[in-house]
Amino acid sequence: MTKKINIAIDGYSSCGKGTLAKSLAKKLNYIFIDSGSMYRAVALYLLENDIPVSDVERVGSELKGIELDFKFNAQSDQFEIHLNQRNVSKRIREMDVAGIVSHVAKISEVRRFLVKMQQEIGKDKGVVMDGRDIGTVVFPEAELKIFMTASVEIRAERRYKELVQAGSDITLEEVAENLSNRDQIDSQRDDSPLTMNDDYRILDNSDLNQEEQLALALTWVEAVS
Ligand code: C5P
Repeated sequence: MTKKINIAIDGYSSCGKGTLAKSLAKKLNYIFIDSGSMYRAVALYLLENDIPVSDVERVGSELKGIELDFKFNAQSDQFEIHLNQRNVSKRIREMDVAGIVSHVAKISEVRRFLVKMQQEIGKDKGVVMDGRDIGTVVFPEAELKIFMTASVEIRAERRYKELVQAGSDITLEEVAENLSNRDQIDSQRDDSPLTMNDDYRILDNSDLNQEEQLALALTWVEAVS
């Protein structure tokens, strides 16, 4: 029997990390966790409660009012994130949240708060988690670490299509600017910047479709389990 492992998928914004993580989890019967949705949910909480991101001390003290849960919705075949018992999966994708989330994610208290939850979820293995620091900080011992990348044009186009489909009237330029800004902040922050090391297998999906990415990742899973 193959052993259960943890799989860390890190990389730039809108690289398709979530799509690959979700399909891997489904194939392996593992739990899928989108760690970015947790940072987004914290950002939403701050927005809705008029807590300025710049007031780091206040942000730290307000975290105790935040309860996050992941629920699998069999009807939609999707994992939902609930913030204080409310399904916010759609709301956290909107641009007001995207505009501040990387600033929220720079705050060490926020990172400590979420990393603790993430490590708890992964303690029994069998988790595919995507984010920016999963293989470096959350699960440094993960058996498989994948670093995903794709050209910024392709990433912006994909995200733009998703947002338009969801009813947003945003422009492609605005999406591209938000992605570049977030990549820059995420890579340059002091606490847990987006980075990789020799542990990672690199997956550039600019020219790979979803089936090809899944097939490649499954060969890596097989190699380590
Ligand atoms: O993955 P997604 O793009 O939804 O993440 C939103 C933001 O959350 C990222 O731009 C980043 O600032 C932050 N994040 C992080 N660490 C993670 C996951 C997300 O800092 N593990």
